[in-house]
Amino acid sequence: MDYNEGEFFRNSIKLLEDAANVVNCDPNVLERMKRPKRAIIVSIPVRMDDYRVKVFTGYRVQHSSTLGPYKGGIRYHQDVTLSEVAALATLMTFKCSLLNLPLGGGKGGVRVDPTQLSRTEKQNLTRRYTSELGTAIGPNVDIPAPDMGTDAQTMAWIMDTYSQEVGYAQPGVVTGKPVEIGGSLGRTGATGLGVVFTAEKALEHRKMKLEGTTMVVQGFGNVGTHAALYAHQRGAKILAVSDVSGGIHDPKGLDIPDLLRYVAEHKVVKGYPKAEPISNEELLALKCDVLAPCALENVITHENAGKINAKIIVEGANGPCTNEASKILHERDVLTIPDILANGGGVIVSYFEWVQGLQHYFWTEDEVNAKMKLIITSAFDKVWELKQEKKVDMRTAAMGSAVRRLERAMLLRGLYPR
Ligand code: GLU
Repeated sequence: MDYNEGEFFRNSIKLLEDAANVVNCDPNVLERMKRPKRAIIVSIPVRMDDYRVKVFTGYRVQHSSTLGPYKGGIRYHQDVTLSEVAALATLMTFKCSLLNLPLGGGKGGVRVDPTQLSRTEKQNLTRRYTSELGTAIGPNVDIPAPDMGTDAQTMAWIMDTYSQEVGYAQPGVVTGKPVEIGGSLGRTGATGLGVVFTAEKALEHRKMKLEGTTMVVQGFGNVGTHAALYAHQRGAKILAVSDVSGGIHDPKGLDIPDLLRYVAEHKVVKGYPKAEPISNEELLALKCDVLAPCALENVITHENAGKINAKIIVEGANGPCTNEASKILHERDVLTIPDILANGGGVIVSYFEWVQGLQHYFWTEDEVNAKMKLIITSAFDKVWELKQEKKVDMRTAAMGSAVRRLERAMLLRGLYPR
């Protein structure tokens, strides 16, 4: 088992090397950035509803704590591997660095299909995974959050298990908790809202406005649903959306609140009566202003990058475009707003949740959203400036900007023990 097994990890390191080169990063520091600080692998025995015990594999990869405690979500998905989690942990380090947060990068994952678990089984799995991680997580050590397949309820179970084990309530061990137990207003929709804020900035640079813009959303989980909803509320026309069940398309624009009611009842978009079905391949190739891939990594590759018919891509997911695809898109003048910038709204509001918890003082949703907008749009401007200065694409510029901050911090802190 090695980090390099997966294409996503190799691609992330290649991007890091290219960006480090653009900003003349110190080679000794770069060597350290290329490997996670540590990885934890745990076996998670779970009592299933039929009394059998099944053993799942869980990971937590802690990439860097130079800038603060490790920070990043926990993913439940049947394809999770150590290499994938390592790639996601690496991206978290650079996301937090780019956004100027006092946090490092980490990520967790359990190789399980959460849709096949009952609520009790999911709770058993979550609590045992938390207890196996033990003191490797904690409010000053490593702070998990939701990611694909996990949500506020999952965070509540982690918070409760950790608190039971240390003997007192410790809400700061996770972010993305329900508001009732110390969560922040605005956290659930934060990643989707950040996608919309960065889309607006990108559109400005193309002399366009969100109102009247056509948009396609691939992936209709937490990020995709909120991105679609907030864009719809601001006057964008959502032409098509897709999830694991398939895609739906309406050239006149989908009624997103109505679609969300349908999905709340039927779980998936398939069968929505007021739109036509569309394949994932066709959906990605639809002519639109903004395409927002909000599901998994490696969705846009060298094979379909030439068929993309969008002016702007905003990466709600982590790693949806491969390096080869990014190159093709850049050559075709498709402006791509990379994951570590476009989906940063989630971790920004996670940071706010952590801060509010430490102060025991909670903000209004408007305050949260306004502060998040300030951070994500300033990061956008910083990346745009570096892109113009170095004549590179947005992805390289975002990574370059993140590398710069981390490089300075690593050089200042130095190597210890030597
Ligand atoms: N899982 C989210 C991400 O990939 C959120 C991480 C967090 O809030 O810590 O950015």
